[in-house]
Amino acid sequence: MPAILDDVSAEILELKKKLGATILAHYYQEGEIQALADVTGDSLKLAREATKVDSPVIVFCGVLFMAETAKMLNPSKTVLLPDLQAGCSLVDACPADKLAAMQERLRINGRKFQTVCYINSSAKVKALSDWVVTSGNAIEVVRDKVPPGYEILFVPDKHLGRYVQEVTGREMILWDGSCMVHEIFSVADLLEQKKKHPTARTIAHPECPKNILDLADFAGGTEAMIKHVGTFAEPTQFLVATEANMMWELERRHPRHTYIGVAGVTCACNKCPHMARNTLEKVRDCMKNRWPEILWQPEFDKAKEVLARSLLNPPITAPVHPMGD
Ligand code: SF4
Repeated sequence: MPAILDDVSAEILELKKKLGATILAHYYQEGEIQALADVTGDSLKLAREATKVDSPVIVFCGVLFMAETAKMLNPSKTVLLPDLQAGCSLVDACPADKLAAMQERLRINGRKFQTVCYINSSAKVKALSDWVVTSGNAIEVVRDKVPPGYEILFVPDKHLGRYVQEVTGREMILWDGSCMVHEIFSVADLLEQKKKHPTARTIAHPECPKNILDLADFAGGTEAMIKHVGTFAEPTQFLVATEANMMWELERRHPRHTYIGVAGVTCACNKCPHMARNTLEKVRDCMKNRWPEILWQPEFDKAKEVLARSLLNPPITAPVHPMGD
């Protein structure tokens, strides 16, 4: 929390009290937004935390699919998103009708499969899936929950899918989607940085392409990255290949280290333009207006079941009617 709050931050904290709201913020939000949040986290942590919130209003500082997830797990609560246009290139890459057509083709061809979707997907896509995963639990779900003998249709992130395939050895059909931020890290820049900082450790998100992951000392989702850097007792330099705002949390949690962002090929800042749509002013305005609000959609009923059995802690049971059969 900043020592002296600017006017907008102070207004947000006032409104928070008035509404009895809990603010959840993704690590890819600007630091000034994360500083006001009750909880910061990656998709998995925020989805789980959303189920523990006892206030009537959740202000979700992230993108649309995340706020929808919070709503599905808290149907009776008001979930506000500062900007409804905050989307995700992975969601856009996998329209539900195209996924349904692909599943139908596989069934007609007699393929025995289950569909595993990354949480960065629409509610309709989640409703068509057997499992929902995050970068934090994808390996565990694929390894432990998808029954042996099934192929896996993994949507929509081909890079995360390829990485999980490599680690688990499971047969996968990969959807051709990618994150517009992690897709563009520059191998040339990373090699240059490695030369400049020969003792630095490279950490990369599994949404990065293979050529970046091959150069990394550690690959893992955002929570795993935080844990990993925490294992280094001595001050260490880290080259960081993920969304740039992540470094705010790394610096806050483990300030003894130095973090250097890896540049992108076309954009040196590596900030997600969807996440950047949320500003302090929009956070304040959504609380003032109680809008934009995430309203319940018919597909949330099915998507919620898939989410709950995939991400929450009670025993995860195999789907009664696997969609891929
Ligand atoms: S960083 Fe990538 S995966 Fe995350 S919201 Fe932005 S476009 Fe989507």
